[in-house]
Amino acid sequence: MLQINPDLSDLVTDAAAGLTGRLQTKATITAAAPGRVNLIGEHIDYCDGFVMPFAIDRYIVIAGCANGTTNARITSAISEEIATLDLTQPQEISEPKWANYLRGVIRGFQDRGHHIPGFDAYILSSIPGGAGLSSSAALECATATFLEGLLDTVLDTKEKALLCQKAEHDFAHVPCGIMDQFASAFGKPNRLVLIDCQTGEPELVPFENPDLTVLISNTMVHHELSDGGYAARRKHTEDGLAVLGKASWRDVSAADVQGNWEKLGDPVNRRSRHVVGEISRTISAAAALARNDFETLGPLMAASHDSLRDDFEVSCKELDIMVEIARKIGRNGGVIGTRMTGGGFGGSTVTLCESRKASEIAAALGAEYEKATRIKPQIFASRPSQGAHLVG
Ligand code: ADP
Ligand code: MG
Repeated sequence: MLQINPDLSDLVTDAAAGLTGRLQTKATITAAAPGRVNLIGEHIDYCDGFVMPFAIDRYIVIAGCANGTTNARITSAISEEIATLDLTQPQEISEPKWANYLRGVIRGFQDRGHHIPGFDAYILSSIPGGAGLSSSAALECATATFLEGLLDTVLDTKEKALLCQKAEHDFAHVPCGIMDQFASAFGKPNRLVLIDCQTGEPELVPFENPDLTVLISNTMVHHELSDGGYAARRKHTEDGLAVLGKASWRDVSAADVQGNWEKLGDPVNRRSRHVVGEISRTISAAAALARNDFETLGPLMAASHDSLRDDFEVSCKELDIMVEIARKIGRNGGVIGTRMTGGGFGGSTVTLCESRKASEIAAALGAEYEKATRIKPQIFASRPSQGAHLVG
């Protein structure tokens, strides 16, 4: 039941072949950027919170080369279309939609005064799209890295991540926080990317224990973050902060929320309770993980899921079913903690478990989930991996 993660080197080979097959040209620049999974700290990257994602060993690869013109010709394994971009103009939103992530990143470079020469590119991915694993951030970071190769320049990593975040805001209309692009840009093998979203500083935290495995279970229920649910949640948190009269969620206590419950009103009061609770849970979880205190970590992940389900209302039936199955397997069955991960409304769960029982747990998750929903999930293990980089 456990899916194998394709080797990055195989993806690179296949992307080069794809470029030649579709655009009859040879790859001279290849960029790779990973998706991410978040262990804890959900929907608080845009609330000055702490988040604890890592870059997974699933990538978007862009293989390409300069083409001597003033146009970009871009195509993807998931689309028959060739998007043609006029690089003499500032990029704007257009069709096909998937190319907007690239247009947004190119625009970020143009706004910084870079002149982008014509290029051909082919996109290949091992990150399931719309599964809460941030294929969109990976596409943005892969594009930015490809452009670094094309322009023979290197952006500061933080600036690159922020440029990619702006592309997501302006060209995909998802008002995301900084987690996804930071994880994809800063990820390192054996490290979690603990981000203080108030200062915008990532800290690479060791995650090396071979006895621990992270299972990612894709419910196969696709989310659509641009359809308003995500933006509405973000607005609720801004409203909450305004009612509380504070400048930052880091200055708000649980007692502040409780004391202003009626004034905040529903659902802003419950959204606020989630934010404050999740910030505190993430701080506790980072400390618990550092001392291998799994008896503390597991319940924190459980409380995170319950809060996202009941107070923030971004879970869905299938995510809850997957989490319930893992909870039933429980600590004796090797499950340390489990919760939904990413923006929600579908997507994936993350399950921290004992490595020696990971296959057994994955098999049970797959079988029980399929029995309950008639949907075959996709389940794979992941270890923290290298962030966006040029290959070769
Ligand atoms: P997530 O980031 O959780 O995977 P999003 O809806 O934010 O979900 O982003 C998914 C979108 O990213 C897809 O609809 C598509 O536009 C784009 N995308 C992802 N993978 C590829 C790919 N291999 N080629 C072209 N576009 C892609
Ligand atoms: Mg996304």
